[in-house]
Amino acid sequence: MDRIKQALDDREFVLYYQPKVNMRTGVVIGAEALIRWQHPEQGLLPPAAFLPLVANHAMAIEIGDWVLATAMTQIESWKSAGLTLPVSVNIDAIQLEQVDFVARLRKQLAAHPGVVGGDLELEVLETSALQDIDHVSSVILACHEMGVGFALDDFGTGYSSLTYLKRLRVALLKIDQSFVRDMLDDPDDLAILQGVIGLAAAFKREVIAEGVETVAHGTALLQLGCELAQGYGIARPMPPEQMPAWVTSWKPDVLWCALPLLVSEA
Ligand code: C2E
Ligand code: MG
Ligand code: MG
Repeated sequence: MDRIKQALDDREFVLYYQPKVNMRTGVVIGAEALIRWQHPEQGLLPPAAFLPLVANHAMAIEIGDWVLATAMTQIESWKSAGLTLPVSVNIDAIQLEQVDFVARLRKQLAAHPGVVGGDLELEVLETSALQDIDHVSSVILACHEMGVGFALDDFGTGYSSLTYLKRLRVALLKIDQSFVRDMLDDPDDLAILQGVIGLAAAFKREVIAEGVETVAHGTALLQLGCELAQGYGIARPMPPEQMPAWVTSWKPDVLWCALPLLVSEA
């Protein structure tokens, strides 16, 4: 824990950003901020190597505050370089549980005048959103008033309860990458995807697939009516300075562009 605190003080944490796109229209809709530890001896460490060490600890809140502040600074600096790109930030359950979560977020937004609510989206794990549904749904509403959207991350790995979905006014469901990865081979995962996409449509929520690793995954998702995606097949998480050039040059795969529009959308 001391080492993590030191890493925070020594500015060894960095944020990488992974683009989120519309595979059909070719619009880059945003980027997800993903923390990394630039460890002086061990190199670039993924979150799985250090976030579990701070689970349920106040240090997770400190890291979360740093992530939010850093993402907001990044939004401002991209804007001054001519790129307006909404950023999604992962929010730890313990951070979300803070009674003053909304007040702190409001204060951070005020400290970053270049950032408007619509530039920011918060991702909470479906499993953590369910821990205290009254609190979480009130946080979602308060954030909504500030223009800050919410996404349910790793959707499908929790209860995916319709009652909860009704009460959690999240705009976006992020289909867990485990279902996406195996959708081409596993009929059960394909059925889950179809179910989640149908659920999202019925509840008028947007849906994004994570873990789109190949063109074939993207094609299958488009055929199911899911246009939004994120994954190695589109871009790996990258340091922020690479993003402007990537956004300028990215084009959806020609196979995706050749697909007919779904009847419901035409
Ligand atoms: P997540 O929020 O579901 O983020 C997606 C993870 O999947 C990222 O891993 C990303 O690099 C990876 N990914 C993206 N596309 C693909 C793909 O096509 N194939 C595969 N196999 N993986 C893909 P990463 O960066 O290692 O992060 C893992 C988890 O750590 C995140 O899952 C999130 O729950 C957590 N995390 C990351 N950054 C933060 C943070 O700043 N704060 C908090 N509280 N949690 C974070
Ligand atoms: Mg996420
Ligand atoms: Mg996820």
